[in-house]
Amino acid sequence: MTTSVSVQVCKEAQEEPPHSVESAAEEPPGKRAWENRQRFFGHVSEEQWNDWKWQFRNRINTVQELASLIHLSDKEQARLRLVTGRYPFSITPYYFCLIDQNNPDDPVRKQAVPSFEEIAFAFMGKADPLAEEEDSVVPGLVHRYPDRVLMVLTNICPVLCRHCTRKREWQSGRWARTTAEIELMLDYIRRNKAVRDVIVSGGDPLSLATSRLEEVISRLRDIPHVEIIRIGTRFPVVLPQRIDAELCAMLSKYGPIWVNTHFNHPHEVTPEAALACDKLVRSGVPLNNQSVLLRGVNDSVETQTKLCRELLKIKVRPYYLFQADEVQGTEHLRTPIETGIRIIEGMRGHTSGLAVPTFVVDLPGGGGKVPLQPNYIVSHTDGELVLRNYEGRTFTCRNPEPLVSDHRPDRQQQRPERVQPASREAVAASKGKAK
Ligand code: SF4
Repeated sequence: MTTSVSVQVCKEAQEEPPHSVESAAEEPPGKRAWENRQRFFGHVSEEQWNDWKWQFRNRINTVQELASLIHLSDKEQARLRLVTGRYPFSITPYYFCLIDQNNPDDPVRKQAVPSFEEIAFAFMGKADPLAEEEDSVVPGLVHRYPDRVLMVLTNICPVLCRHCTRKREWQSGRWARTTAEIELMLDYIRRNKAVRDVIVSGGDPLSLATSRLEEVISRLRDIPHVEIIRIGTRFPVVLPQRIDAELCAMLSKYGPIWVNTHFNHPHEVTPEAALACDKLVRSGVPLNNQSVLLRGVNDSVETQTKLCRELLKIKVRPYYLFQADEVQGTEHLRTPIETGIRIIEGMRGHTSGLAVPTFVVDLPGGGGKVPLQPNYIVSHTDGELVLRNYEGRTFTCRNPEPLVSDHRPDRQQQRPERVQPASREAVAASKGKAK
């Protein structure tokens, strides 16, 4: 689906002259990133480097470009061409510079540079393991939980993360929702008064021009029963220059807006990322992090602890640690579920509770999120619980008897009632316009 809006994004990025963006390099960047920048992008001016549109326009997305920057044997190049025929790639110059060129297992590289294993294990997993298409009430609007909906505005992202749950969207070209499609989504939300929380996501919604994003956010804010708006974005991690004055001024007008970002490794917590997060916080936007547990990237207690401590220092609350979904083309990055539980066990009590995310499995088939944690109950008898603490010591807690009034019939959790769009014809018509 190619649309006028996606063209708007790209044209704006190409045609607008670089404008004044506050320097994202107010502090000296990390030594490695700085050396890489000098080595690979030494010809790029400071102004261009700090212009998110320059970064976006100059993403590395061909095997030939990649091979000109890092050593790839002929065999590796041939394999990469095979992989990218199915799963394309895209890396911003900024994010590329975080890679340790001497380490083939570098955690940033693993997230951004394609691997042959993506197609070697492609028979495992599903294209849409969370059944988002099934739960879409109008194109791009997923309504699974009673009081919240997910708006998928585009499939465009500055970096195509190799572990992405919506990898299936990469084969459909670059698209963004049309005005007609957005109208259908807004109409559904307006008519469904149970919706109090709207998650604006993608792809990455900050790939859209700020003016386009404002059109959507301002209209959501006009709906009285929408209490909070959440934006899911990886820009603070992979292209922090995007968090500019214009964006922050816009977001500050429509609060409460929460941003969920997606840091996976402490190497991503750079001075530039810290500055971007600081700007958001100063604009009245609280920040939470949703990390994905990835084999060889962040699957140890040490890495997760370091990551979460670094996040707190830049005012980002570690929120979820996701078990990687069963997505086709990502099997090589998935870990056993026990790894996540062990990591939480290794963090809880050993560091501030604020730094400990909730480990979550998003159930296949659209079952929703299930939190998992170590079992701290040693035994449970009438009136008494024996619990173990983080050091393995056991403690007995007296457990008060329930009052009769505490016994209430179980309430069956209902699937959200869906308000149908005006007509199926309207949906079909909007799809037609989206071409
Ligand atoms: S930013 Fe999010 S949606 Fe985009 S590729 Fe990465 S994980 Fe997928």
